[in-house]
Amino acid sequence: MEIINRRKRMMSVARKLRREENRTIGFVPTMGALHEGHLSLIHEARAMCDVVVVSVFVNPTQFGPAEDFNAYPRDLTRDAGLLAEYNVDYVFAPPVEEIYPPGFSTYVTVEGGSEELEGASRPGHFRGVTTVVAILLNVVKPDFAFFGQKDAQQSVLIKRMVRDLAFKTEIVVLPIVREESGLAMSSRNDYLNDEQRRAAAVLHRSLSQARQAFEEGERSGTRLTELVRTTIEKEPLARIDYVSINDAETLARLDKIDDRPALISLAVFVGRTRLIDNMVLGKTKKHEAAGALG
Ligand code: AMP
Repeated sequence: MEIINRRKRMMSVARKLRREENRTIGFVPTMGALHEGHLSLIHEARAMCDVVVVSVFVNPTQFGPAEDFNAYPRDLTRDAGLLAEYNVDYVFAPPVEEIYPPGFSTYVTVEGGSEELEGASRPGHFRGVTTVVAILLNVVKPDFAFFGQKDAQQSVLIKRMVRDLAFKTEIVVLPIVREESGLAMSSRNDYLNDEQRRAAAVLHRSLSQARQAFEEGERSGTRLTELVRTTIEKEPLARIDYVSINDAETLARLDKIDDRPALISLAVFVGRTRLIDNMVLGKTKKHEAAGALG
């Protein structure tokens, strides 16, 4: 496994793999602090592609000024150990100035879809995400890039960007990996103490209740979000940022769920840690895994 820090080196390695060796490249972008969620993406990339490239880059442009960019967990030695165990071929871990050289001034924004949900709570977040993903896709030029349903809105926006700007990469979205308690794996779970971690299981519990009500026939967006809210409000350590039901493909807000898959998503503070989670209603697990997000 080679760790690459320079954009030019990454580009020339990827070009050689593609052109001279004719090998398919699978790419998994991450911010490091790797956990089973990341590893599930890498596992799938390993199964589908000849060569696996993983980037580890805490992207400053997707963090707001009051957010945790500086505190975000960073441990490249540990991450590289895990990546080697998973037979990753290349780790791209550039310093910030390799991605944003002096004078950098071009951003990619997906209009309509970036401002709601996570975008409403985190202004500018998705501009940062789509910009860095565009750069990384241009550097690595992978055949496939793997993303988690954990960040459902992000996956929708990246798919849209790739389609609109004619990137040649195919986007693969994989299901949320959870702890036994139901808590979705996240690098930010590192911020939680034991008591908060136990409390954080309420996110998944509340979503599961909504899914059950949906399966029993409930189709009202208001009633389903109320159900989720009521459950979370019973947990004293949790504070709701938002709970929302949207069309899983267009992200349009839904008052009533019809035949199309609906995304129920939420952001909740547990202590000072902001956690997100979601479920897709109206599709089987198999469909959800393969990409209910179109
Ligand atoms: P991050 O390092 O948080 O930027 O995440 C990198 C990729 O891993 C993103 O595509 C995430 O959606 C995905 N990911 C993060 N947590 C999970 C999880 N619990 N299950 C599946 N994918 C995940």
